[in-house]
Amino acid sequence: MIGISPLGIKCLCLNIDNVNFNSSEKLNKAHALYVSNLIDRKEFVSATAGCELNGFISCDKSRNWVGVHYHTNLKEAIKVKLGRKIGEHNGMSASGHSLTIGVCAEQHAANNVLKDAFPNENTNYDVAKLTFTKAVRPKGKKVIEPCVNCNTIFSK
Ligand SMILES: [Zn+2]
Repeated sequence: MIGISPLGIKCLCLNIDNVNFNSSEKLNKAHALYVSNLIDRKEFVSATAGCELNGFISCDKSRNWVGVHYHTNLKEAIKVKLGRKIGEHNGMSASGHSLTIGVCAEQHAANNVLKDAFPNENTNYDVAKLTFTKAVRPKGKKVIEPCVNCNTIFSK
């Protein structure tokens, strides 16, 4: 189901009510700075996002999953909620591209704060409690709606 968000961006119409996008001022500022730095370096990635957990903040960008260590909690949430693994394809983007699990800015940012907050990984943290900024594409600072996978992984 394709629709138009309040921002006028084409998006997959999903229930995102359970995803924490009421991000804190500190998190939003860190993300705005991160986006500005990418623009200064002319690094026009497709999306960026910030995530916060227990005071740990991380901003990251959409990038390859290969070679990245993913936290056990995130891998487990993906397995349970999507029935898939990092690197597998699942769902389509609003522009009709096949989505790869593990490449999204939100997933990288979430992975970073999980590793910071729970370095020993023997936790069972509910990733639906994570707080995110809106995802932003540096070029034009366009807000990017979360994909079907991120909405599912980070929802209750
Ligand atoms: Zn995503």
